[in-house]
Amino acid sequence: MANQFDVVVIGGGPGGYVAAIRSAQLGLKTACIDKWVNKEGKGVFGGTCLNVGCIPSKALLEATHKYHDAKHKYSDMGIQVKDVEMDVPAMIARKESIVKNLNMGVAGLFKANGVSAYEGTGRLLAGKQVEVTDHSGNREILEAKHVIIATGSVPVEIPPARTQGDIIVDNEGALEFKEAPKRMGVIGAGVIGLELGSVWNRLGTEVVVLEAQDKFLAAVDQQVAKEAQKQLKKQGLDIRLGAMVTGSEVKNGQVKVTYKDAGGEHEEVFDKLIVAVGRKPYTENLLGDGAGVELDERGFVKVDGFCQTSTPGIWAIGDVVRGPMLAHKASEEGVVVAELIAGQKAQMNYDLIPSVIYTHPEIAWVGKSEEMLKAEGVPYNVGTFPFSAIGRAMANNDTDGFVKIIAHAETDRILGAYVIGPSAGDLAQQCVIAMEFGSSAEDLGMMVFSHPTLSEAVHEAALAVGGHAIHKANRRKK
Ligand code: FAD
Ligand code: AMP
Repeated sequence: MANQFDVVVIGGGPGGYVAAIRSAQLGLKTACIDKWVNKEGKGVFGGTCLNVGCIPSKALLEATHKYHDAKHKYSDMGIQVKDVEMDVPAMIARKESIVKNLNMGVAGLFKANGVSAYEGTGRLLAGKQVEVTDHSGNREILEAKHVIIATGSVPVEIPPARTQGDIIVDNEGALEFKEAPKRMGVIGAGVIGLELGSVWNRLGTEVVVLEAQDKFLAAVDQQVAKEAQKQLKKQGLDIRLGAMVTGSEVKNGQVKVTYKDAGGEHEEVFDKLIVAVGRKPYTENLLGDGAGVELDERGFVKVDGFCQTSTPGIWAIGDVVRGPMLAHKASEEGVVVAELIAGQKAQMNYDLIPSVIYTHPEIAWVGKSEEMLKAEGVPYNVGTFPFSAIGRAMANNDTDGFVKIIAHAETDRILGAYVIGPSAGDLAQQCVIAMEFGSSAEDLGMMVFSHPTLSEAVHEAALAVGGHAIHKANRRKK
């Protein structure tokens, strides 16, 4: 007899494992299947995010940021540190131990909540049956009332630069270098390219970022994107826009890259090349005959606004469906779907998903940019406030960047919030909370913010929307 479950989740990344835990919390008999095997040959849960994405990249970003500050900024505070050195293998080992801890954490949460964990590959068959093939090749059928597909995404490969050994690598390989390369190329100035480029740039690598688009961070508010480009350039990242990579050749332990821009064809030689040109939904070998799931033209599983596929009882969440490829978006979809399965009312607000780029300064935003509002013909007011006028930022020796709040010109409702600067992700999150409650800029301006905190920049930017920020001269006065 096949094992029967209320919910079978295929994929144990931040979408899948969260969906499994929430389902089990709600009293549903739940299984979660994941095929990820770590370097030691052990099956682990946590997906891209825990194993090779959000967490390991942030471990390296934090370590290299501290190293950079110790070398270049501590002396401003009177701290004289001599002979600062980075032990790259130790940094990588620390990252790996964090990943292992988190893998164990998910396994522990599964146990505590009674989720049945299956290490192996899931395949959706007709009639909501799921075939699981474990890592030794044994097969088993699970029968489910509900199936949640959470199989995530994988890096896009481009023909002119296919991954090759440890020289042309994707995001996974870029987290494993044994030493800082002398000269490194990055294809793609997206979130992943900029974060990984920053990691190695801080350790002394000469980094050249090749980006096909003419605009830097085209999807981000352009005032913020311009500030980001200026700051990253100051740090030494050589960002070349309008540069389309057309070929690569690995020779004598190096890679020769050719690219075209408005000035013609160019050649560069690097010790390493990171390909960070985006990710694509992953459904390889997932769907058996009659599984009842449709894919769109780009390979995403087709779902409605509630993550329901065209077959009742089959759901899909996270990177494998439309929307931003972000861990918190995947997790929230997991919670919503579990609650809907349990018969509760649940809904996700797709308009207020925050994004963060963990460079330094950090860049974070939620809602609409000035460019979007202009295109939509929505009238708006803008308030900005620089960290250089925030006492706490000065005390912290971290004053680059600003907060920008955009509000409707007539209703004053906050439509967008952008932060470039220290702790930008956490500050933008304050705006998410305000916006979820329909806050106006005036509402935010009337709240009491602790002093001295970085949050005061959010308060002042909200006041600046109405032309009455206190700690700067206002352009529009009220
Ligand atoms: P995944 O995390 O990709 O998990 C899918 C899981 O499904 C995998 O474990 C896979 O093994 C498993 N699977 C696939 N097919 C099958 C099958 N047939 N059977 C069984 N198991 C299967 N997002 C952020 O929000 N913040 C960040 O700072 C951030 N940083 C990132 C940095 C990097 C370098 C990268 C690559 C990504 C980053 N992301 C970040 C994106 C984030 O990792 C993804 O959005 C998130 O992991 C998506 O979650 P998911 O559950 O949909 O899929
Ligand atoms: P993201 O999807 O945010 O990770 O960003 C990936 C970036 O890679 C995009 O900005 C693309 O324009 C860029 N890109 C894709 N293909 C190429 C290429 N052949 N050469 C240079 N940049 C590219």
